[in-house]
Amino acid sequence: MQLKGAIYLGDDREAALALEKALRDEGLPLAIASGDLEGMRKAAEMDIDVVIWDRDNNEPGEPIPVRQIRGVGLNRQPVVALVRQGDVGSALASLAEGASEFLFKSPIQENPAPRLIQAVDSRQRDMRLAWCSKAIEDTSGQLKAIVGTLKDPAYIVSPDYLILYMNRAAQEIFGEGLWGGVCYRVFYDREEPCGVCVSDKGPARWRSVLKNGKSYRFVSTLIRTGGGEAEKLAVGTDITLDEEVRKIHKTFISNVSHDLRTPLAAIDQYLNIMLEGQAGEMNADQKKYLEVIKRSSFRLHNLIENLIDANNILSGRFKLRMQVTGVKEILDIVLPLLRAQAREKGLALQVTVSDDLPPLYCDSMRIAQVIANVVGNSVKFTERGSVHLRAGFMPGDQARIILSVEDPGIGIPKEDLGKIFDLFYRVEQDQVYVEEGAGLGLSISRDIVRAHGGTLWAESVEGRGSAFHFTLPTRDVAAPSG
Ligand code: ADP
Repeated sequence: MQLKGAIYLGDDREAALALEKALRDEGLPLAIASGDLEGMRKAAEMDIDVVIWDRDNNEPGEPIPVRQIRGVGLNRQPVVALVRQGDVGSALASLAEGASEFLFKSPIQENPAPRLIQAVDSRQRDMRLAWCSKAIEDTSGQLKAIVGTLKDPAYIVSPDYLILYMNRAAQEIFGEGLWGGVCYRVFYDREEPCGVCVSDKGPARWRSVLKNGKSYRFVSTLIRTGGGEAEKLAVGTDITLDEEVRKIHKTFISNVSHDLRTPLAAIDQYLNIMLEGQAGEMNADQKKYLEVIKRSSFRLHNLIENLIDANNILSGRFKLRMQVTGVKEILDIVLPLLRAQAREKGLALQVTVSDDLPPLYCDSMRIAQVIANVVGNSVKFTERGSVHLRAGFMPGDQARIILSVEDPGIGIPKEDLGKIFDLFYRVEQDQVYVEEGAGLGLSISRDIVRAHGGTLWAESVEGRGSAFHFTLPTRDVAAPSG
């Protein structure tokens, strides 16, 4: 680092000249001014990088006037204290008072330039740190202001589980005056911190029933304070209604699917008996009608299996068989069937997979099921043109891959776009109702993708087409270590 110049503030002519000579040898000009306010002002008008303050300016016990030096505009310049030879006490006191460095006075034995450079360096570092801390303080202040306006409960806890902040919604549930309390006792009546907090030092999600009897889904994230502490901000969303609806769905699906399975098995059994001629010879027409019944019963069977699958997912009875696998291997499972479906409708199915994709850590059958659902929908709801499936890296994020399916089909009205992932939801369009389906596929698919740590979403313009995208973490991020 090349310094432009330094200034000596003080009245010890001899020391100043010795310093000037030592620095001149190093190519660093030294200006000299008095050790008072006037000298400081003079220094502020000059283009210098370092202020050297002669500690002999101070009365005994009086600190270096660092604030005054900053006050005249010498803000970026470090203050280096010049103390009497061997006066270690004054040297240390100077550092405590805000000096960045110290030099011993004449005779100046060693080259002072490197220490001045070091002082400039450390001042720059301090200023950057101060700026960062302030930015963090400001951000966490703004964060509290935003969180304060939420209708949902939110709180901030310290690393040792003390409640530092609760917004109004949280206070309405738990009461006021609880700041400083231990979060797991106050919020959850527990004697020890919950597993999520103990094991998860980063962002976390959990569900809990709070003291008002309502169910909440919480997400938490770490926020840094200016002092470098990592506090945890948790925000809850009221999902009571969702949970109740889910419970009703669960009971309904469970009852209906099991009640349908038994008679359907009987229908299948007797159909087979008749088709095999065990109940007497059938003529060609009768056989044709029985084939139609068999196909319908097969469809019904598929629907029931989907219902049972959806129910398992809703009940959390949903185990992923995770393994390391490539995107191409997963596509091999589903593409033959999807190509056949597309061909039947006279559609082209284009597939583009980036070559450099890393392996995934996932349940390949489940991901194949998601692809089959999404591509299957595109084929169902498109009359001409081509459906395009692409797999590549998420732009700007090498830790995630994105699979996208685009079609030029019927599209989805704006008001339905947010609902198509709900259980049993089908858009009220004639073109939808002529197709098979019960509104289960996307709901199941979203849960599968979520269980893998990914996201599934849709874009669409009614009458123009749709695009469905889902992301998955690549193996390095998702696979457990060891
Ligand atoms: P299903 O296809 O069995 O009806 P899904 O849950 O897979 O059930 O889809 C829900 C609804 O979303 C569909 O009924 C349809 O209205 C709409 N949808 C899904 N994919 C598309 C698509 N590619 N184009 C237009 N509409 C779609």
